[in-house]
Amino acid sequence: PRQFFVGGNFKMNGVTSTIKSIVSNLNNSKRDPNTEVVVAPPALYLALVRELADPSVGVAAQNVYDKPNGAFTGELSVEQLKDAKIDWAIVGHSERRVLLREDDDFVARKTKAAIDGGLSVILCIGESLEEREATKTIEVVTRQLNAVAKLVSEEQWSKIVIAYEPIWAIGTGKVATTTQAQEVHAAIRKWLGETISAKVADETRILYGGSVSDGNCKDLAKEKDIDGFLVGGASLKPAFVDIINARL
Ligand code: 13P
Repeated sequence: PRQFFVGGNFKMNGVTSTIKSIVSNLNNSKRDPNTEVVVAPPALYLALVRELADPSVGVAAQNVYDKPNGAFTGELSVEQLKDAKIDWAIVGHSERRVLLREDDDFVARKTKAAIDGGLSVILCIGESLEEREATKTIEVVTRQLNAVAKLVSEEQWSKIVIAYEPIWAIGTGKVATTTQAQEVHAAIRKWLGETISAKVADETRILYGGSVSDGNCKDLAKEKDIDGFLVGGASLKPAFVDIINARL
């Protein structure tokens, strides 16, 4: 069985005081021991969160660069993240794909570099509203995944957690229905089976992200191909613990 996974993507939110209080709330909460929890604070606070968070809580960078070092102003390398005891990176978030124009190939190169350097990756994929309305959802997510499949080996998929985040559901309060999410998750798993292997299809966690809340998480968590969540806004609030405990 796949271990339930809940990620908290703080995005560009928080300062020292609020991030400290989020982490201490998490440390002191009663969390389902069967849920793997990973939080992604802004880069400036990665080391602080790694120092303060319970060792059972993983810490992820929200981004990473694909080159090992050099003249890349503003970027962070895999080695630097490893040096700061960070074990995860979010790659390909739609906010970076859209606002910072990251294309499929760049996202795939970052994924490959992160895994080669010893990080695990939360790989984000998902369609826009326009693409969904044009019934291109599956075409878009498989195109995004194919770019990664070209670069990473079968074994390296064990270091990837896929986060399906429909762009129209992010930060909008418009959560995908359980049926909409399950349908895409099942298609992703089918793609994994056909393109990578039956083992990878069976073992890869596929998270849902987009307006996940303490109110809607329990129903989503019952779907057979939904293995957890990537949470934005609600990860900054005490309700994050209820989402971690969605399967209790
Ligand atoms: P919200 O939960 O705020 O909709 O954000 C989802 C997301 O983008 C997580 O990466």
